[in-house]
Amino acid sequence: MSYLAKTYNRKNIAFKYGKGSYLYATNGKKYLDFVSGIAVNSLGHSHPKLVDALKKQSKKLWHVSNAFQIPEGEKLAKKLCKKTFAHSVIFQNSGAEATEAAIKVARRYFYSIGKPKKNQILCVKNSFHGRTIAAIFASGSKKMTEGFGPKLPGFNTFIFGNHEALKKKINKNTAAIMVEPIMGEGGIKEIPDWCLKELRKLCDKKKILLILDEVQCGISRSGDFFAFEKSKIKPDIVPIAKGIGGGFPIGAVLMNKKVASGMTPGTHGSTFGGNPLAMVVGNAVMDIVSNRKFLNNVKNLSKYFLSKLNKLKDRYPNIIREIRGRGLLIGLQLQKDQSKFIEKLMDNGLLTIRASENVIRILPPLNVKKTELNRALKIINNVCKNFS
Ligand SMILES: *Cc1c(COP(=O)(O)O)cnc(C)c1O
Repeated sequence: MSYLAKTYNRKNIAFKYGKGSYLYATNGKKYLDFVSGIAVNSLGHSHPKLVDALKKQSKKLWHVSNAFQIPEGEKLAKKLCKKTFAHSVIFQNSGAEATEAAIKVARRYFYSIGKPKKNQILCVKNSFHGRTIAAIFASGSKKMTEGFGPKLPGFNTFIFGNHEALKKKINKNTAAIMVEPIMGEGGIKEIPDWCLKELRKLCDKKKILLILDEVQCGISRSGDFFAFEKSKIKPDIVPIAKGIGGGFPIGAVLMNKKVASGMTPGTHGSTFGGNPLAMVVGNAVMDIVSNRKFLNNVKNLSKYFLSKLNKLKDRYPNIIREIRGRGLLIGLQLQKDQSKFIEKLMDNGLLTIRASENVIRILPPLNVKKTELNRALKIINNVCKNFS
């Protein structure tokens, strides 16, 4: 029996170690890992530069309080700001903490300019911003909030893609709109560029803030450092997590100068957030994944992989309904429930993970090799061929 609470339906498989895009299981089998800890292991397993960074730092200093200077964190924050729209950064330990901090930053900004009643956050119905109390009520998902009442006030939702409904939901107490540029858990659904542009315009017109949750789609996963970059807009606040630590738990919220002004000493804190161990790994990840050449390679791999997947869709239209996504954040939408298909892929040595709308999420490490993509394509083809 397991002494872990049953909050997951875990597959009966455990791993001894990982190397690059592969995981080696205790059952003796080798798996191509296209889950990447859900877009976390952005550079695969045991990347030498990350191992080296962690090893070196582990001999020097693990943790100090945020009451002191942490140069490694200063360094990572500077890199993130130089690379993006951001003026400053708060480090956290997870995605949900990052989205919650984003909400705090938005509310505090309006408080600081004398508009404390402007505190409502508008989110997409059934989106995903994490599992903490505030984050589940932000998503307005029945499944995630059931049994966790009372319902937290301060959140409102609109239906994905419905601009008119969204406009109607904005009122004088609205502080911000928070959306994922590419919905991950929601089934790899992209907000098109024109729509992000409209959102920005709408927020400017209504004098409210735009929060883009890049926890899953950010950190080069989409082929751009941030998924929103393609639309050429600038958000006000961006929570990140997953990919930035390459497997070490890191979350952060990036913000522009305007909203940063509300975050004065004592308004936020985190015991572990931004500790030296996390920060050296974050710096090592950042140095690799924010490089232009690296990003171009992600784009090229994506183009190749998506075109091949679309060919498989054309070959097996009764099984595959749609290929979704961008960069290496890819969704294979099946005609029906995807669980059995995921099992079959696993039996054939390919690990993938589910998302909503019968979607199978395919999240290779961003430094995946073309030969590994080919191997995955072959496995997917084989499973399609024998699938009933
Ligand atoms: C995973 C995810 C979160 C929550 O991250 P945790 O680290 O699990 O708390 C928030 N937002 C999005 C878009 C995510 O994909």
